[in-house]
Amino acid sequence: MTRKQRVRLALWLISLAPGARAQPEPPAVDPGGPGRPPSDAIVLFDGKSLAEWVHEDGSPAKWTIAGGALVCKSGTGHLYSKRRHGSAQIHVEFATPLMTEATNQARGNSGVYLQNRYEIQILDSYRNPTYAVGAAGAVYGQYAPLVNPSRPPEQWQTYDIIFHAPACGPDGKVTRPGTVTLLYNGVLVQDHVALKGVTGGGAGDDLCKPGPLMLQDHFHPDVKETFLRFRNIWFRPLPD
Ligand code: MG
Repeated sequence: MTRKQRVRLALWLISLAPGARAQPEPPAVDPGGPGRPPSDAIVLFDGKSLAEWVHEDGSPAKWTIAGGALVCKSGTGHLYSKRRHGSAQIHVEFATPLMTEATNQARGNSGVYLQNRYEIQILDSYRNPTYAVGAAGAVYGQYAPLVNPSRPPEQWQTYDIIFHAPACGPDGKVTRPGTVTLLYNGVLVQDHVALKGVTGGGAGDDLCKPGPLMLQDHFHPDVKETFLRFRNIWFRPLPD
């Protein structure tokens, strides 16, 4: 048998394997690119509109838009997506401000709260030591990032999050904890970690229900204002 015939035979045998034909054709998705979300993503911020966001009391978002970026207006409060999400792939870009006079948690500080419950810490962690579970890329208070791939302040950085919501029984109790995988600037920093409950400041409501994505207006007594910027925020719902 020639090499070509052997390959043809192998492909034929694979096609006969149980289930090989039972798998549906995966839907085609335009993957997008820098600044362009995949075609099946739900866009929460496209650089122009605050329509997908509100504050905790449901009032219109008071954060501002400058140069296509969403800017945290200090003191106006956290921003909540109107949409609620369960398991999802979530993409967020952010830039921390240059705050040379500040150190530790007083530097550019914010957070992305999955379902308003679990904080993925945002911090200027470039040459700025702090406690490990409070560094950029940490699941705040629970898991330190595996490495620190932070870029300097003022530069755009990316979080790509794979979140699986907790599994729940018919009695509404969590039977399997939620999990988080996080690529920070494309580098793996959280590898399918199991959430130990809500993080500090997270909503302790029904963990079995979807929740909004929340962007933190971080308060620190030594800091007058935060100038955290965000852009290109989208998510893709995943099966639970
Ligand atoms: Mg924070």
